[in-house]
Amino acid sequence: MKYIQEPSKRTPVMAETDVLVVGSGPGGLSAALASAREGVKTMLVERYGCFGGVITQVGVETIAWYRHRDTVDSQGIGIELEKRAEAMGGTRKESQSLSQALNSEIFKSVADALVAEAGIIPLLHCPAAHVLMDGPSIKGIITESKSGRQAILAKRVIDATGDADIAWHAGAPVRKTPRDEMMGATVVFSCTDVNKDKFLDYVAKKKPTYGDWDKKWAIETSGKEKNLFSPYLSEPFQRARKDGTIPAELTSIGGTWSTISDTGEATYLNMTCISNCDGTDVRDLTRAEIDGRKQALLAIKALKQYVPGFEKAKLRNFGMTVGIRDTRKIIGKYNLTGNDVRHQGRFEDAIGICPEFIDGSGLLILPTTGRYFQVPFGILVPRKIENLLIAGRCVAGDKISHAAARNMMCCTVTGQGAGVAAAVSIKENVACRKVKISTLQKVLKKQGVRIA
Ligand SMILES: Cc1cc2nc3c(=O)[nH]c(=O)nc-3n(C[C@H](O)[C@H](O)[C@H](O)COP(=O)(O)OP(=O)(O)OC[C@H]3O[C@@H](n4cnc5c(N)ncnc54)[C@H](O)[C@@H]3O)c2cc1C
Repeated sequence: MKYIQEPSKRTPVMAETDVLVVGSGPGGLSAALASAREGVKTMLVERYGCFGGVITQVGVETIAWYRHRDTVDSQGIGIELEKRAEAMGGTRKESQSLSQALNSEIFKSVADALVAEAGIIPLLHCPAAHVLMDGPSIKGIITESKSGRQAILAKRVIDATGDADIAWHAGAPVRKTPRDEMMGATVVFSCTDVNKDKFLDYVAKKKPTYGDWDKKWAIETSGKEKNLFSPYLSEPFQRARKDGTIPAELTSIGGTWSTISDTGEATYLNMTCISNCDGTDVRDLTRAEIDGRKQALLAIKALKQYVPGFEKAKLRNFGMTVGIRDTRKIIGKYNLTGNDVRHQGRFEDAIGICPEFIDGSGLLILPTTGRYFQVPFGILVPRKIENLLIAGRCVAGDKISHAAARNMMCCTVTGQGAGVAAAVSIKENVACRKVKISTLQKVLKKQGVRIA
């Protein structure tokens, strides 16, 4: 690697706050809401033009597709997001579960409303490029935006970037799953001009199940999932590969649909997959965007040819960015394990619960029986760095626990825990890692979180 030496600079301070949350997906949005609702000055900084992360930027709608009659669910801001979106006319009934699929466009306004009501200071179009440190303590971030290079100073920082960008810049130990084992990236797309009745009639006749996933990926389930309905399309793509409609080697094309509107919009089509993509490598991201768009257009070709109701379908839009599932995770005070999420882990420092929903890295387990695990505070606490907490999919854990912790509802649990912990640590004037667990749990309960 060739290097250059940059000249040192005087950098203007654009803002000072108590709690600074970087990244506004399910993790960051929940963290900022939880912190601001404790009366602490909170700023939410986002690199793109809308809050919501994967929901609004990638187009992923299904915040609770795991929910069945006997599911014991998380409580708190995650459920509030679903309900508020519904109240604002921004949901449709999800097809495989007792949940609402979010309208990813309307969710931009849902997030705006929640941020404003909580008194959070919003900042969009503002990527965090580096950190400010004082010994082992984080003191803020450097942003690089259309306004130039600026500093934001903060007493506490929450890294909700999905990729642990802030922790990594601060020098906290992080890990990544090897690139060839990382979960694939996806360009999500939506179509118009779908004949809803014809398509749903076809689905009713085909009766696809989670068992069908096995034909594409080797999936271990607990057995009870195999015969449940799944909005999954595989056969049309196999036929398209056989007759040359799409290249035979593109076995990555195929997957799930989400909702169909009465006016014929099929949204959140999750049917492309780009492997060997490390979402912290810009060259990989470039390839994933371009290859993902190519795959999406081929998928539409196959859908038109082989799926009744899609004959006249047209591309409505691609997600505004490729969806990344799996990158850096911090090495935490505690590292969640596959055993914890598969065997109802219990923790003294619990900040919430998550249903036993594990999706990815060869596993699909749905919480149909009321099993759940507790989420420990320790997975939000990085090693070495003071006054930094982590929320969302980059919390500490192994490859299998990531298949649970990455799910949006779990990201809202770690987000709310981080937000309350940061606020409590300010009020009690202690370092984030030294927050009294009994106080943290008390405030979380007051905010409506189920701890045990
Ligand atoms: C295609 C796809 C389908 C999925 N399907 C589902 C599903 O059906 N159900 C489910 O529960 N989960 C699903 N997931 C997983 C889930 O969406 C994510 O794991 C979850 O959104 C992670 O939340 P987060 O808040 O940690 O990160 P994100 O949602 O990724 O949000 C991170 C935010 O930080 C911002 N950001 C990043 N870096 C910076 C920076 N340096 N400066 C400022 N801002 C920054 C980003 O722009 C983004 O807004 C899916 C994921 C993908 C990619």
